[in-house]
Amino acid sequence: MGTVTIKAKALEAFVADIFVAAGCSREEGERIGRYLVSANLCGHDSHGVVRVPRYASQKRNGTVVADVTVDVLVDTPVIAVVDGKYGFGQTVTPQAVRIGIDKCKRAGLSAVTLRNAGHVGRVGDWAEMAAAEGLVSIHFVNASGSVLVAPHGGVDRRFSTAPYCVGVPRAGQEPLILDFATSVVAEGKVLVASQGGKKVPDGALIGPDGQPSADPHLLYGDYTPTGPRDHSKGKGAIRAFGEHKGSGLAFMCELLGGSLSGTGATDPGRGRFANGMLSFYVDPKVLDPQGFFPKDIARYVDFVRSSRPATAGGEILLPGEAEARSRARRLVEGVPLPDDTWAAIVETARSVGLDERRIQQATM
Ligand code: NAD
Repeated sequence: MGTVTIKAKALEAFVADIFVAAGCSREEGERIGRYLVSANLCGHDSHGVVRVPRYASQKRNGTVVADVTVDVLVDTPVIAVVDGKYGFGQTVTPQAVRIGIDKCKRAGLSAVTLRNAGHVGRVGDWAEMAAAEGLVSIHFVNASGSVLVAPHGGVDRRFSTAPYCVGVPRAGQEPLILDFATSVVAEGKVLVASQGGKKVPDGALIGPDGQPSADPHLLYGDYTPTGPRDHSKGKGAIRAFGEHKGSGLAFMCELLGGSLSGTGATDPGRGRFANGMLSFYVDPKVLDPQGFFPKDIARYVDFVRSSRPATAGGEILLPGEAEARSRARRLVEGVPLPDDTWAAIVETARSVGLDERRIQQATM
């Protein structure tokens, strides 16, 4: 399978035009384009423009709503409970994060829950938004209605891929961003493997017989090479990462991102997809008026990096470093997309009635 490579700005603009044609405001379309392409730039293609067809069909069938202004259900000096009302994650999440940042700047600390958000995408974007304003942030997220992951010791799906994220700002440098799904692999990676792409690691999946496996059929059941993939059809599950510890973190993401936000921990009966998120924000300038923190981060980063590599030529990467490198490279080289992904985006553009000349322009 071949790839097409598209410059980030051109890709953002095309995605924006697709969502404007689908019924979003220009502002929202541009936001969706920006955040999806940001995930591709970071190297997380599973959370990038590959989502365009799914988002467009969610808009079409009304499971996601355009141009939502969030409701703030509880509003104290340090706490907000925010209802995303099934708006696009790219629209409602920055509103919730903005509320958390503003409260934190006034009080030094804040906690914000976001319920019923459309797909919030790459959670690192939200930690980066807080870090850009000098704040530390911690995010527990669940994806209610998306039941994919078996708990440690089990074979039946009970968790979503429930991501966890921590962001730490650094003056004049890229922030440190730890951001991962609490499953061995994100679902998108199993999808890619099922299409003949890169295989998932052995043991990323588990069968109903308890056998660790790398076979995508355990997630999707029977499928044809180009046919649709339906993760409700498989008899197996993705495994939680990190044995009992990672499984415990996934469980807490479900409770804090899901139950405490009012979204609900993952529930197969829920039907409508929603992300839930609990975010904490801390202002280091209030907690650390002497400025010890930035100096100690610098010392500690050097100390960690100075570890001898485990393999010849290996290196120690900091949280967020792989993404920052990918972003720097792809901003210059463009975003590579498998032909199938690009074809599906073009098909989506046609399905929402985007002008054919505009489509031709994007494909040149
Ligand atoms: P991953 O396995 O690639 O792990 C990413 C993390 O590991 C980053 O913090 C990265 O900097 C760090 N990292 C990568 N290589 C490293 C190395 N060699 N040394 C040290 N650190 C390294 O990520 P993932 O689990 O596939 O998740 C991908 C994305 O999917 C995330 O952005 C996550 O937020 C997103 N996600 C979203 C949802 C949702 O419902 N919205 C659900 C699941 C995942």
